Amino acid sequence: MQPAEVVSRFAPSPSGLLHLGHGLSAVLGERLARETGGRWLLRIEDIDSSRCRPDFVQAIHDDLAWLGLKPDAVSVQSARRAAHQAALDLLTAMGLTYPCFCTRADIAAAVAAPHGSQPLYPGTCRGLSAAEAARRAATRDPAIRLDVAKAAARAGPLTWAEAGLGEQPADPLAGGDIVLARKDIGVGYMLACVVDDAEDGVTDIVRGRDLIESTPVQRLLQALLGHPAPRYHHHRLLLAPDGRRLAKRDKADTLASLRETGVDGPALAARLAALDPHGPDIAILFHEVD
Ligand code: GLU
Repeated sequence: MQPAEVVSRFAPSPSGLLHLGHGLSAVLGERLARETGGRWLLRIEDIDSSRCRPDFVQAIHDDLAWLGLKPDAVSVQSARRAAHQAALDLLTAMGLTYPCFCTRADIAAAVAAPHGSQPLYPGTCRGLSAAEAARRAATRDPAIRLDVAKAAARAGPLTWAEAGLGEQPADPLAGGDIVLARKDIGVGYMLACVVDDAEDGVTDIVRGRDLIESTPVQRLLQALLGHPAPRYHHHRLLLAPDGRRLAKRDKADTLASLRETGVDGPALAARLAALDPHGPDIAILFHEVD
């Protein structure tokens, strides 16, 4: 049997301008596909309509063209709402979801999380009766959460394949009962990402190691929904010259600002491709890529 063709993807959210770390994900994903005769896809993860903007979508296309990267196909996450809903309905029919009426303030009050960290949901609404949930739903739209302990018990022990490291044990319980569907937009990142990767036939996920914590629960959702398990390639993060994490909101860190100041895009792409994707997070200085 022929090994499956590599299909890798770059899946940015157009909620800001891309930075060098996004450039690294794009370059590594594109190279992986090209070296193996596979395909490289661009997916615009635009479900959060309150934060995503058309000018940021345009900037993604402009940045990739400037770097010399040409996706073989482009998909748009907001066009997949029916598939996201079908997956949510399936998980609900399996008895693995529950409505959650908690506000951020309710959760913060129930959990003392260390400063700056996202508190783990304490499961407040997990035990609500159907009648109580219906009573509350009459006045407030709920989020839909995954009952992760029940889901993990149903799926059994899972691992994920990390390139270069082999099978890694997946512990989805560490992230708590994640939100599958936000109350404002009807879906959440974890579910949409898993559904879209399956719809796009993605075999290899290349992304920064800041997303590694999403992997165990995404692997769980893949197993529950009967989707194939992709291989993962989590790469090191790039830092600003002063050691800060790069941020979309800081214009100076963005690919658009490098593009606009006349930096050579293909030379930058070659420099990123030559970086060892592993090892500690590093700063690459902009003058080194000119
Ligand atoms: N859309 C996510 C982001 O921009 C990345 C999703 C992923 O690569 O899994 O952070």
